[in-house]
Amino acid sequence: MKSADEARIAYLRKQLSHYSDKYYLDDDPEISDAEYDKLFYELIALEERHPELYDENSPTVRVGGKAADRFAKIEHRYPLKSLTDVFNYDELRTWYEKNKADFPDASFSVEAKIDGLSVALHYEKGALIYGATRGDGNIGEDVSANVRTIRSVPLKIDYDGTLEVRGEIYMPRMAFEALNAKRESNGEQLFANPRNAAAGSLRQLDPKITAMRNLDIFVFNLQYCDRNFSSHSESLDFLSSIGFNVLSLRRVVCGYDDIESEIRKIGELRSSLPYDIDGVVIKVDSLSMRAAIGEGTNVPKWAVAYKFPPEQKQTLLENITVQVGRTGVLTPIAELAPVKLAGSVVSRATLHNIDLIRDRDIRIGDIVIVQKAGDIIPEIIASVPEKRTEELPEFFMPEYCPSCGEPTFRDEEAAFRCTNASCPAQLLRNIEHFASKDAMDISGLGPALIRGMKDSGLISDVADLYYLDENALSSLERMGKKSASNIIRSVEQSKDRGLSRLLYALGIRLVGISTAESLCKRYTDIEDYFSLDREALSQIDDIGEITASSIVNFFSHPGTRETVDKLKRAGVKTTADNTKPKDDRFSGMTFVLTGTLPTLTRSEAEAIIKERGGKTSSSVSKKTSVVLAGEDAGGKLTKARELELRIIDEEEFRRMLL
Ligand code: NAD
Repeated sequence: MKSADEARIAYLRKQLSHYSDKYYLDDDPEISDAEYDKLFYELIALEERHPELYDENSPTVRVGGKAADRFAKIEHRYPLKSLTDVFNYDELRTWYEKNKADFPDASFSVEAKIDGLSVALHYEKGALIYGATRGDGNIGEDVSANVRTIRSVPLKIDYDGTLEVRGEIYMPRMAFEALNAKRESNGEQLFANPRNAAAGSLRQLDPKITAMRNLDIFVFNLQYCDRNFSSHSESLDFLSSIGFNVLSLRRVVCGYDDIESEIRKIGELRSSLPYDIDGVVIKVDSLSMRAAIGEGTNVPKWAVAYKFPPEQKQTLLENITVQVGRTGVLTPIAELAPVKLAGSVVSRATLHNIDLIRDRDIRIGDIVIVQKAGDIIPEIIASVPEKRTEELPEFFMPEYCPSCGEPTFRDEEAAFRCTNASCPAQLLRNIEHFASKDAMDISGLGPALIRGMKDSGLISDVADLYYLDENALSSLERMGKKSASNIIRSVEQSKDRGLSRLLYALGIRLVGISTAESLCKRYTDIEDYFSLDREALSQIDDIGEITASSIVNFFSHPGTRETVDKLKRAGVKTTADNTKPKDDRFSGMTFVLTGTLPTLTRSEAEAIIKERGGKTSSSVSKKTSVVLAGEDAGGKLTKARELELRIIDEEEFRRMLL
């Protein structure tokens, strides 16, 4: 049996890899950097206690990122490593003293740590040849065309040989605020912070978009040059002299006290800088000493990053309001007396959920501690009950949705939700989902158009899509006769998708494609679902009690009855054919799909397998009959090889169909 530590290590590795992918690949972090670092250092401590559980794929061993497949890859000639963090002055002093013991003459470059993303810029004969992101440190993404749009990246330099520099691309705070304001008014998702905005803007397939984002660069290292330098600071001065925008907040000092005082000075400037910094980097300046000190696997030993603690302030909690998100989750929001924090004025902060409010004993009228940890959304980390001058009542979540007035309920994940499928706050997301490829597959319905249709009163639930008037549609902004008629045609074609697609499209919580298919095998008419109870539903394969409750809740809501009746009146098919499989050549076989297939989408391949009596599963085990693998197949393929399973590609799969 696994020990508690072993289980925790496995859990942390999985969670951190997931958060890393969201952060580096999607530029859309799910948690704050401070929370990420807490988990990361917990994992380091556990791994140190259990060297027998070493894994070369652990997030602690690798540089966090990966090169996304949508870009061509560039192998770095000189690896782009990460940095070891120190979180307090004791850790910094230990590092300093070790270096001083080995090299009493060492001096140190103390530099602002710019919060953006790392790139390598490679020049030959005075011209920029390519720009690449860090990726996993060895292989980065080719973002040359995008880098060229950044005005402060010189395309030509006054140096004839081969030269490679490393720099941090960042988005100045003003550009970030303007970009988010624009996104907000377009109803687009906001970037969490300037770092993610910079990463998202540089990693665009269309350089024209990058060009509009006002990115900037600070060069902070000479990676290679066919000319020699004795120190890092000398090499940076040289880079500045040939046209690079070199990091300006840097100073070379010798003694420990001077290092600390430089860090404090940079810390004091932090909130007034026009760009974000998240710490200070301290580097041994002499290049020959660096070479002697050496490198770890993914970090140099001659440098450390002192990370600033997140900035905190106290202010008055004036009120708690409740927001309804697009998934129907109710989120309590703190309305604060405005306070200046990390360079911007904060007057609202998320309180996440009621449990957090209770745990931190937060009440309206309290003085609270607000923190901004690299995220645009600040957090309340505690109340200061000593400052209460009178008894304050506890806060309760509303029993009725503030958006539509329908009752709310608390789900098993402790979130309060609105029960109403047609709640206006959820409508946009519901329609996007309804029209998506695996659901009713209605093409041309982008978020902006759906918003336009909602705002002009053309739709108030998904069924209204089937009653759209071509003239009214064509009069919407950026719509013409032709696109309106295409949409009407596409809506018309979607009527025949059948019950399982419709059940999935209705967005019943926890009912994904395969659950919808299992349901339809047993209950073939949508009318059946209005009288089903939890017990009957729980009998069906793949359906647990929680999913059963969610289905019953959905169909017991009066709004659902109304929507389904409207769909039926419009001629949308609400029954399942349950025709026999085309043939049963795959009967008794379980397929696992992994990676990207050259021509088939995952849902097409799954449909082909199911039509021939086979099953699909999302995880590889001894019970798997065949693994159908495409490009960039990851862990599933490795596991399939270990278990010596049959692995095929699309070509072989197609031969099996002949
Ligand atoms: P890092 O960003 O903490 O430090 C290394 C980077 O600092 C280098 O890549 C370099 O580009 C940059 N840098 C800026 N100025 C520099 C200078 N003057 N000299 C040298 N380097 C300089 O390390 P990392 O490995 O890129 O990322 C780890 C960080 O990412 C952590 O802070 C972590 O919190 C965050 N992270 C967050 C999430 C999340 O979900 N929120 C997920 C993964 C990682």
